Amino acid sequence: MVIGGLQKFSLIDYPHKISAIIFTIGCNFRCPFCHNPELVNPKLYPEKIPEKDVFEFLKNRRKKLDAVVITGGEPSLHKDLYQFISKIKSMGFLVKLDTNGTNPHILSKLIKDNLLDYLAMDIKGSLDKYEEIAGIKVNLENIKESVKIILDIDKSQGTKDILNKKTNLEYLNKKVNANTKVNADIKVNINKKIQYEFRTTVLPKFHDKNEIHKIGKLVSGAKLFILQKFYPTKTLDLEFLKESQFSNNQMLKFKRILENYVQKCLIRWK
Ligand code: SF4
Repeated sequence: MVIGGLQKFSLIDYPHKISAIIFTIGCNFRCPFCHNPELVNPKLYPEKIPEKDVFEFLKNRRKKLDAVVITGGEPSLHKDLYQFISKIKSMGFLVKLDTNGTNPHILSKLIKDNLLDYLAMDIKGSLDKYEEIAGIKVNLENIKESVKIILDIDKSQGTKDILNKKTNLEYLNKKVNANTKVNADIKVNINKKIQYEFRTTVLPKFHDKNEIHKIGKLVSGAKLFILQKFYPTKTLDLEFLKESQFSNNQMLKFKRILENYVQKCLIRWK
């Protein structure tokens, strides 16, 4: 992994857990409002932090930290992400991964192999506006596939809930092993509860009521959606420091729209 930052303590980045945050270098998007330009623009890349230093730190924080958040940049660009997360999991930490959803295959593999505890995917806008907002050509099929993979977490967990109500889990697993009524994929998924969120940073330049409806449709049925307010304090494109932001009242209106599509919508004000 190419690591550009390590925040040793956070109470807000993994819901209800004490976490450390690892920032990976490099991103395949160029969202002009990005607030981590040093991880996106190669000219601004910070000095790399050796992986061994990160693991040394984590070793000393066992039992003091609950979780590790891996963010960027875009962590899924790194070929060794799977191994990296496996190692962190083997140390006993919960793992949250932040992603822009451009690499559905790695998400699918990490979910199937029970290596994630929390997954946060950015939704930049409606599919119609994705490329404009991401500032680059985007494979929209990959975005749709990632959304589907994440929404399917609920289906498999829904299966778990239903099955748990009807029967004892040990008995069920015997049935799974005997390959009777439940297939092998379900067997993997019933062992694990993965939390997730979709989230969008909204700003008047890109988003309006119509756009929010389209985003809602894209992630329809999702358990949790987070609306993030844009703050023009640090941006990848310096022109965006002049961009306006939505009023709190408008944010609340967007929240009400999204509540028609998702189970829960929250606003992250900061
Ligand atoms: S906001 Fe956009 S450019 Fe910045 S890290 Fe996220 S996906 Fe990459």
